[in-house]
Amino acid sequence: MSRPARALLDAGALKHNLQQVRLHAQRSRVMAIVKANAYGHGLAWVARTLGESADAFGVSSIEEGLQLRAAGVTRPVCLLEGFFSADELPLLSKQRLEPVIHHDGQLRALEQASPLLRLTVWIKVDTGMHRLGFPPVAVENIVKQLRNSRAVTGVRIMSHFARAEFPNDDVTRSQINDFAKLIRNLELETSLANSAGILAWPSSHFDWVRPGIMLYGASPLMDKDAATLDLKPVMTLESALIAVPPRKKGDAIGYGGDWRCPEDMPVGVAAIGYGDGYPRHAPPGTPVLVNGRRVPTVGRVSMDMITLDLRTQPQAKVGDPVVLWGQGLPVEQVAQSAGTVSYELLCQVTERIPRVVV
Ligand SMILES: *Cc1c(COP(=O)(O)O)cnc(C)c1O
Repeated sequence: MSRPARALLDAGALKHNLQQVRLHAQRSRVMAIVKANAYGHGLAWVARTLGESADAFGVSSIEEGLQLRAAGVTRPVCLLEGFFSADELPLLSKQRLEPVIHHDGQLRALEQASPLLRLTVWIKVDTGMHRLGFPPVAVENIVKQLRNSRAVTGVRIMSHFARAEFPNDDVTRSQINDFAKLIRNLELETSLANSAGILAWPSSHFDWVRPGIMLYGASPLMDKDAATLDLKPVMTLESALIAVPPRKKGDAIGYGGDWRCPEDMPVGVAAIGYGDGYPRHAPPGTPVLVNGRRVPTVGRVSMDMITLDLRTQPQAKVGDPVVLWGQGLPVEQVAQSAGTVSYELLCQVTERIPRVVV
């Protein structure tokens, strides 16, 4: 027997979630966002499972792009953080990796690039995120410049939402309006919506949508959970009980010893910890499933273990299944308890957790 901690991956759920994207954005093409090892799910597995049903893939680095090519992906691959130096351009051209560009140095590099290259580039425009992107007023000129560059054979444009997860939000409304105004006379392929835009802001769909978190089955919206949105969790992080010792009233549990048993009670130990990516900051009370039923954590999260209040499950025994998130326990709820977002929990599942396709 090996350590029971593992991440089960559900291919059917992944395909279902892509169908949900299609259902919401029927006139748009889909760039499946698979950066950060496909939000922790495994880049090659996600890309192969989606296959030709995604129109393109989005990653953050050339290395991730090359991994996709090595996995046999033939669809366009977009580099969401662009390129970092001019010497990368021949490789991008050869591997058909499409950089998003956001600063003048990149424009100059493209101008000076060999005319034998064939590059599709995406202009990043800043409509309110205030992170990356050219200001809208600069775009018309940039398009002209790019069209004069022989190495550039395709030009597209994208922007990114700052807070589309909030319903009825003025910032989001103005981002959509500004983007729509900007692209009106440009005749370029366009993209704005992330998962929240796809689900909550239909006027943001444009030519390409860029779903990330919803593909993996977590809700991107503040006011709706994944089940309401008909999204299915792709990853179920599970382990098992490895001890169920009875404790006495007043016993201090684990590191620091600041959680004490309020009465005589069983405190289960599950083989999962921050060394696996379970959040160390998850406070006592964070929900976990034991035998499919919710129990709260107690004490601190260790590197390899967590401790559980088993008062409602006195029959629980060594070997019983424990689910940390996924099937039956939405990752958003664990994230909320730990003061973070589902994105972080999913992409920080460490390498020592075997990914097992079910
Ligand atoms: C990560 C990312 C997305 C996907 O965002 P989700 O909220 O996960 O849907 C879309 N576009 C860009 C530019 C991104 O970096």
